[in-house]
Amino acid sequence: MRSIGFLVIVVLLSSTVLAQGPKGIEVGDIDSSVAPCADFFEYANGTWRKSNPIPPSMVRWSRRWAAGELSKDRLKEILEQAASKKDAPAGSPERLIGDFYASGMDEARINTLGVEPLKPWMAEIDALKNAADVQVTIRKLHDIGVNVPFAIYGASDNHEPNNVIAHVSASGLGLPDRDYYVKSEPRFVEAREKYLVHVATMFRLAGANEAGAKAAAETVMRFETELASQSLDNVALRDPKATDHKTSIADLQKMTPAFDWNAYFTATKIARVDVNVAEPQFLAEVNRKLEKTPVAEWKAYLKFHLLRVASRALSEPFVREDFEFNQKYLGGAKEMKPRWKRIVETTDDLLGDALGKIYTDKYFPPAAKARMQEMVKNLLWAMGDNIQKLDWMGPETKKRAMEKLSTFNPKVGYPDTWKDYSSLKIDRSSYWNNVVEGARFAVNDNRSTIGKPVDRGRWGMTPPTSNAYYDPSLNEIVFPAGILQSPAFSMGVTDAVNYGAIGVIIGHEISHGFDDQGAQYDAQGRLRNWWTDEDLKRFQERTACVVAQFEEYFIEPGIHHNGKLVLGESIGDIAGAKIALKAYQHSREGKGPEPTIDGFTPEQQFFIAWGQFRGDAIRPETQRLMVQGDPHPIGKYRVIGTVSNMPEFWKAFGCPETSAMVREKAKRCSVW
Ligand SMILES: [Zn+2]
Repeated sequence: MRSIGFLVIVVLLSSTVLAQGPKGIEVGDIDSSVAPCADFFEYANGTWRKSNPIPPSMVRWSRRWAAGELSKDRLKEILEQAASKKDAPAGSPERLIGDFYASGMDEARINTLGVEPLKPWMAEIDALKNAADVQVTIRKLHDIGVNVPFAIYGASDNHEPNNVIAHVSASGLGLPDRDYYVKSEPRFVEAREKYLVHVATMFRLAGANEAGAKAAAETVMRFETELASQSLDNVALRDPKATDHKTSIADLQKMTPAFDWNAYFTATKIARVDVNVAEPQFLAEVNRKLEKTPVAEWKAYLKFHLLRVASRALSEPFVREDFEFNQKYLGGAKEMKPRWKRIVETTDDLLGDALGKIYTDKYFPPAAKARMQEMVKNLLWAMGDNIQKLDWMGPETKKRAMEKLSTFNPKVGYPDTWKDYSSLKIDRSSYWNNVVEGARFAVNDNRSTIGKPVDRGRWGMTPPTSNAYYDPSLNEIVFPAGILQSPAFSMGVTDAVNYGAIGVIIGHEISHGFDDQGAQYDAQGRLRNWWTDEDLKRFQERTACVVAQFEEYFIEPGIHHNGKLVLGESIGDIAGAKIALKAYQHSREGKGPEPTIDGFTPEQQFFIAWGQFRGDAIRPETQRLMVQGDPHPIGKYRVIGTVSNMPEFWKAFGCPETSAMVREKAKRCSVW
C-alpha cells in the first residue's frame, strides 16, 4: 500500500510540473531585508534559518541535512517491513537487513545483557602476559574493525594505481586528532579533562571500581598522548607525499622489529605484497611501546578502545556515555537521536549494499540517472574548455591536464554489482554479535582486495548516502543516489537551479582532481608530477591566494579557518561554481535562455540555488570541530568565499565594486 501511495504522489507532482512548468528557487527562504551583495549567505537563507532551528538531536541543519534525514525515514520503512516479514528466504538481502534491524531494536534484551557480550574479549585482554600476546589481540581487534593502535587496509598503490596494496596508517586515538593531546589552548586542555572523566566512566560501567577506573583512564591518556606526539597533524596529513612510503614486507619488519608481521599476515590472510606506511614515525612509536610499555598499560588501552567502539551496540548506560562525550560535549547535540535512527545508520554502514539495492529500486528513477549523466558530461566539457583558455598555464601542462580530464570515471546512483553477503551470519538473538559479524565481513571484504588488480566497480559510499566524492588514484567522481534528491537535484526545477546545486557539486568533485592534492596525481592515478616547473609555480601562487582568503574567516574571536586545511575544498567550490555556470550556459545553446521566474533571472537562480544548498545552521561546538579537523569550510564561508571571487555573480546581482561580496582586486582568487 505504501509503495502505491508513493506512486500516486509522483504522478501528482509530474502533472503539476506539466501544468505550471519547472520551479525556480525557494523564494520563501530568502531574507530580502539583506542585500545579496552585502551578505549573500544571509540573503539566500535568512528566512529559512530563522524558521528552521536545529533539531535537538542534530549538530547541523540545512535543507540537505533534512533530505538526508528523510532518506533515513525511508530506510526505516524498508527495514520495518523487512523485519516484520519473518519468512524471507535465509541469506536473502531482505532477511539479512530484517534480522539485523530487529536485533538492534530489541532494546530490552540489549539492556538486560549490559556489558555481558564483551566479557570473552575482556577476559582475553586480562590474560595477556607479554608483547607477543598483545600482538595477537591487536590482530583480533583489527579483524572486527577496532583499529588500534594502527589500521591496515587495502587501497590503490600510489605508484601503480591498477594494483591494490596494504596501507598502514596511524589510528587508535579517542580524541579527534593529535592536537587535542599536545596543544595548550584552553579548548584542548578542557577536552582532555573531559576525556579523562569519560574514559574513567567507561571503565566504571564495565565493572571497575572508582580508583581502578581513574588509574586506567590516566594510563590511557598517557598512552595516547605518546602516540599523538609522534603523529602528523591534519594539515600534514593532506599532503600525499608526506604519507607516501612504499615498503617491502622485509623492510616493514626492519622498521618494527618488535611486531611479528609474519604471524599477522598469516592469520589475516592478507596477500604479501608491498605495504605503504603512511607515518613511519608513528609506527616506530608503536614498536617502542611493544618493547618498553608494561603489558598492564596495553591492557587498559586495548580495553578502552574495545569499549569505545562497542559502546553504541551495548546497553543504555554505554550508549548514553558515548553520546554525552562524543555527540553532546564535542559536537553540541542536545539530545540523542531516536533508537530507530541509530540502528538505521548502523545497518546502512554495515550492510549498505543489501539495504541500498532495495532503496534505489524504490526511490531512484532511471530518468534521474540519465539527467545526471548528461550534466556530468556538460561539466566535464566546461572544465576542458576552462583549462584550454587558462592564461597562466603553458601548452605542455594543458595537454597533460586535458589527458587527465579524459580519463575521469563518473559513477551515478549505485554500483553495477552488489556485494554478496551470503557468507554472513546474522540472526535476531544478539545485536552485538551481528555488529561484530558485519564488521568482520567488511574487514575481510577489504582485505581480499589486497594483492589484486583494482576493481573499479567498488564504491566507497553506500547508495543512500547524501554525499559525493573524488578518488585521486582511480580518478573517479562518485554520486550516490542519496545526494540526487532535492535540494541538490530535482526533476521538477529549472536547469538553472539544478546546475546551481548538483551542478556545482559535480564541478566541485571534478575540481578535486586538480586541487592541491589531486593535481599531484596524473591521468593514470599515479602520484607523479605532470607539471612544468613554471606552471607549478604559478599554480602554487594561485592556491596561496585561496589559503590567505580563508585565513581571514573567523568563526568566533580567536578561531579562524586554517587556510591550508580547507584549501582543496575551497578550490573545489571556487572552480566548481565557475564551470557549473559555464556548463549551464553551454547546455542552453540552441535552446535559448530559461525564463525569469518569480523575478529571478536564470543566473540569479543558479547562484541562489548554490547558496540555498549550502545554507545551514550549525552548533558552535561542531563549528569548532570542523575548523580544527574538517577540510570543508563551514557553509557560510563556502558560499561567501566562492561568490566573492566571481565576476559572474557580481554581474548577476549588479554588485557595486565596493560591496562586501566583491573582494578587493588584489585579493581575488581564481585557480582554475
Ligand atoms: Zn570536496
